[in-house]
Amino acid sequence: MERLGWVILVLLCLSPDRALAQALFDVKPVAEGVYAAMARPHRPENGNSAFVLLDDGVLVVDTASTPSSARALIAEIRKLTPRPVKWIVNTHFHWDHYWGNQAFVEAFPSVDIISSQRTRLDMGRMGLGNALLARWSLEIPATIADWKRQLEQTTELDRRQRLTERIQGWEVALPELKAMRPAMPTLTFERRVVLHSGARTVELLWLGRGHTAGDVVVYLPQERVMATGDLLAGDTPYIADITPYEWIRTLEALEKLDFDIAIPGHGEVMGGKEKLLLWKEYFRDLMAETESAYAAGTTLEDAVKQVSARLVEKYRDRFAGDFPQAVEGNVSATYRIVSGQQN
Ligand SMILES: [Zn+2]
Repeated sequence: MERLGWVILVLLCLSPDRALAQALFDVKPVAEGVYAAMARPHRPENGNSAFVLLDDGVLVVDTASTPSSARALIAEIRKLTPRPVKWIVNTHFHWDHYWGNQAFVEAFPSVDIISSQRTRLDMGRMGLGNALLARWSLEIPATIADWKRQLEQTTELDRRQRLTERIQGWEVALPELKAMRPAMPTLTFERRVVLHSGARTVELLWLGRGHTAGDVVVYLPQERVMATGDLLAGDTPYIADITPYEWIRTLEALEKLDFDIAIPGHGEVMGGKEKLLLWKEYFRDLMAETESAYAAGTTLEDAVKQVSARLVEKYRDRFAGDFPQAVEGNVSATYRIVSGQQN
């Protein structure tokens, strides 16, 4: 028995990525040679990935939030095929989708990283890419100390568990983040690129501004599958710097594509267009309600309370559990847009 224990320990040490992979991602086939890698809860949060097996290599959509999480993805790919990763597509510039790039470059030195032109630009400026990383390396220790203080002061079990997970996750990630230099895209395009590999066709499409200015959708027309990044995700929409007006237009362009399955940047794989229609409806209500609150002279603070309450009542059961918290940020972002403070 004791010997068996040692054997298991040695096996785990020989394949740490494999043990890690099982803990971080659930890989599901969605079509012949096409897989969704669904991120499990983790700190720092990982986006989902997708793998497309090509004749001479693998195309990977998004690379998670850290090199160690990306190595977990690589371990999953190696279970599926001995072929090398040839292409990475970064759907947008948010860190939870591309800070794993570096691990792929280390494992597959000739890999090309593709994004829209705008995404590459955003990765490098506005404090959103490497500059954000530098700032976080300075700020995270203080944030962790603050979480520890909160943990000492709270007796509520749920909250204690959430804080403990956060503290442990970020303490492990911090040295990794400090040492990391995210690899940047090596190929960019404006609107559309088509990759051909044997019988497979992969379209990379920029359909307009949505979650960010540079969102790319990876579309397989024959398989009727797409990976949407956060342009259409399985959880609640997160409005940062793009107006819901533009986002709706881009979702309308997405709706015109023939697809049965969408692999989102977060949340579960989606069948059909139901979620897309829900997001459009939600954005329309969000804009209409916020516009009329602003027109009636309601302050930002009151509008956030009133509009959020109405939207939560209508949509609570149709979105993920974090909807009530997320909707307040959406209302305040939309208020700043309709009041001309941001466009
Ligand atoms: Zn994301």
